[in-house]
Amino acid sequence: MIDTLIVGSGFAGLGAAVKLDEAGRRDFLILEKGDSLGGTWRDNVYPGCACDVESHLYSFSFFPNPDWTRTFARQPEIRAYLEATADRYRLRDRIRFGVQVVGAEWDGTAWDVRTADGETLRARFVVFGTGALHEPQVPDIEGLDRFAGTAFHSAQWDHSVDLAGKRVVVIGTGASAIQFVPAIAPDVARLTLFQRTAPWVLPKPDRPISSSTRRRFRRFPLLQRLQRLSLYWRHEALVAGFLHPRIMRAVQGLGKAYLRKVFAGDPDLRRTVTPDFTMGCKRILMSNDYYPALRRPNVAVETAAISRVTETGVVTADGVEHPADVIVFGTGFKVADGLASMAITGRDGVKLADAWAEGPEALLGTTVAGFPNLFTIVGPNTGLGHSSMVFMVESQVDTVLDAMRTVDRHRAVAIDTRPEAQARFNAEIQDRLSTAVWATGGCASWYLDEHGRNRTLWPGYTFSFRRRTRRIDPGHHEMIA
Ligand code: NAP
Repeated sequence: MIDTLIVGSGFAGLGAAVKLDEAGRRDFLILEKGDSLGGTWRDNVYPGCACDVESHLYSFSFFPNPDWTRTFARQPEIRAYLEATADRYRLRDRIRFGVQVVGAEWDGTAWDVRTADGETLRARFVVFGTGALHEPQVPDIEGLDRFAGTAFHSAQWDHSVDLAGKRVVVIGTGASAIQFVPAIAPDVARLTLFQRTAPWVLPKPDRPISSSTRRRFRRFPLLQRLQRLSLYWRHEALVAGFLHPRIMRAVQGLGKAYLRKVFAGDPDLRRTVTPDFTMGCKRILMSNDYYPALRRPNVAVETAAISRVTETGVVTADGVEHPADVIVFGTGFKVADGLASMAITGRDGVKLADAWAEGPEALLGTTVAGFPNLFTIVGPNTGLGHSSMVFMVESQVDTVLDAMRTVDRHRAVAIDTRPEAQARFNAEIQDRLSTAVWATGGCASWYLDEHGRNRTLWPGYTFSFRRRTRRIDPGHHEMIA
């Protein structure tokens, strides 16, 4: 039996592994379904892919990188950083690639973790770092299977297709599309962008970091720490706007001013791309080249609903056919499934899918009542609309380690979350979420489930999350002897 199995080798899995190792809990193995590490930063290789949180903040606190070449690093650099993390902390030989976890059963003393290859691994603790956004969501559009061109999702970008001179239809205007549309627009013959809901877009303070600044960061690590701190607090200042939509409506003025500036000579297009909901209700996007790309002569923004796909293009509800050689889906991910799609059985034979029938719920996003010694990094209600998820990952890892230490201290078999503590916690955050902009801003988003409940976001400051996750509250947990 192994002490800890970690599932996934993105920021969450690697972050947990480093901290376990540092704490002397070296008996762990990372299971990774892919053939390389990096999670979302391995999967998303679409043109223009980058992070919209500054890299000096969107990185591990324990492994600062003085060599970021841009304020907002692009995907290859972030992936390389994760590879470097694995090297620096000697994690490579602790990862088993090509191993997909499909289920896990608690038998009263440990977890039997099953893989797609039919193998069973036994572990005391299981840490899921499987992320929330990796299953592409491709809409079920009539006739799509008859399309004679190529169609793919942004997270499964087909680099074998040369887009130069092609007529490309892009569906979706979310965080991914606003990055790849400007990257491909100059090459394609024609780009028709299907916008169902116009997002709020703000300018991105993205710039190269000079070699002298990088040298300074290398020589004076304190400078880099100060830079990180300043970014951290600038992001935290946004929280008030998300919780109090009145404040956000004032900030919205910045978005309107940006629209007026970019579309000064084109009021029709400006109206087309002006959002009709309160800023922040959906993720606030940042780009300097998205709006300018929409003004290109070879780009058209189409707002008519898609009714079907033919062999040669996309037909809208008004009967117009938009010819296409390639269709790219920037249509996001299946969020709700997450861990519930794995066959996980906890105490008394309770299945996670049943426990989460009304939607995923955990205590501080990390532990789930009835599922002892199981941890979900980036679990329910840990997502952020305003800052770095890496901060949340590190906070959750604190909780995981404290829970493990507590089990050992009590010479117990396991730790389980008390259902009443989990229920109280969720009632508290749902109460806070009910008045926040995500619920009241007048939009539909993947943050909300089909009942309108927000199971994805943390409604508050990240320092309050950090404070609550630093140590487990013994009153919220039960020790299993
Ligand atoms: P997304 O934000 O969910 O956007 C999906 C887009 O597709 C939306 O514009 C949506 O329209 C549209 N859409 C979905 N189904 C459609 C349909 N049937 N017909 C027409 N349009 C449809 O997905 P994403 O852009 O892939 O981003 C997902 C998340 O990944 C982000 O919210 C963010 O958390 C993360 N991400 C982060 C970064 C980063 O820089 N950190 C970059 C990329 C992605 P509606 O708005 O009308 O639903």
